[in-house]
Amino acid sequence: MTINRNKVVIVGAGMVGSSTAFSLVTQGICDEVMIIDINKSKAQGEVMDLCHCVEYLNRNVKVTLGDYTDCGDADIVVITAGAPPKPGQTRIDTLEQSANIVKSIVSPIMESGFSGHFIIVSNPVDMIAHYVYKLSGLPKNQIIGTGTALDSARLKHFIGDLFHVDPRSVQAYTMGEHGDSQMCPWSLVTVGGKRIFDILEDNSEYASVDLEEMIKRVTKVGFEILNVKGSTSYGIASTAAGIIKAILNDENKIIPVSTLLEGEYGENDVFCGVPVILNRSGVKDVVEVHMTKAELAKFKQSADVIRENTMKILEKM
Ligand code: NAD
Repeated sequence: MTINRNKVVIVGAGMVGSSTAFSLVTQGICDEVMIIDINKSKAQGEVMDLCHCVEYLNRNVKVTLGDYTDCGDADIVVITAGAPPKPGQTRIDTLEQSANIVKSIVSPIMESGFSGHFIIVSNPVDMIAHYVYKLSGLPKNQIIGTGTALDSARLKHFIGDLFHVDPRSVQAYTMGEHGDSQMCPWSLVTVGGKRIFDILEDNSEYASVDLEEMIKRVTKVGFEILNVKGSTSYGIASTAAGIIKAILNDENKIIPVSTLLEGEYGENDVFCGVPVILNRSGVKDVVEVHMTKAELAKFKQSADVIRENTMKILEKM
């Protein structure tokens, strides 16, 4: 009899990769976390530090240093290697550099016999996820960009803060690009089942609330954090860990991630942040929410931004 062990490989031992490893280990989400980085000594240091957590956790998670030949039996490879935007740069400005890094990573991983799920965190995440899809040749359900999952968590935090409720009692997504063009279908946002529009209408104290300003804040807050601490790490690490947990535990949890659209929302050939059902098969299904005409138009604009920029790297393949 064999008992299968879950193995998650993280490529990139920087702020995002090491924080993701810490989230996986402290939450006991998998049996083994393997770390790979071009900077082997940095990866080795993270591995040693993480191994020393185990005594005080509720289970033993094996943490190892690896290389690409070790990916063949991995369930999930998380790509966090990249070039985070420098001050004044947008995520899209890092497209070419990120694409070159990812290209050097995906080929040896596929040569190892890897056939699991890729979770792409490196920015600009929608375009890079599409690139990994093309480079790997794996089925679309196995290529998952973190997309607007983090933005949605940030939005829920802001809404929860506004109404003094737990963010987990808020139902809200941002959709489209993990970037400036993302949008929120406000007509679908509810707090404890009550439409946000009705909450605003029923409570005069919220008369001055500007929902579009809140979306602008969501798109900018990553840069606010980057400017003061040099990186964002805990939010995205929890997001990646949440996605991995949903897959490994076959949760059928709905999370907005970047996935290939083939007809959904009238869009084709674009990786875009939309709510999906996540389970052991990866993206089991795209949830097609009904938006207003104006919301759908905004979503399409965002999909166009992603498609246009994705072409820049796909054309060079
Ligand atoms: P970082 O500079 O701290 O770490 C990047 C790591 O990648 C470094 O350890 C570096 O050695 C490694 N690396 C670079 N080239 C490599 C290669 N060819 N092979 C293996 N490893 C390589 O950066 P960070 O703050 O961890 O950010 C990483 C990426 O995550 C960036 O693209 C950033 O924009 C992105 N990010 C995405 C989100 C999201 O919501 N999707 C949120 C935060 C950050």
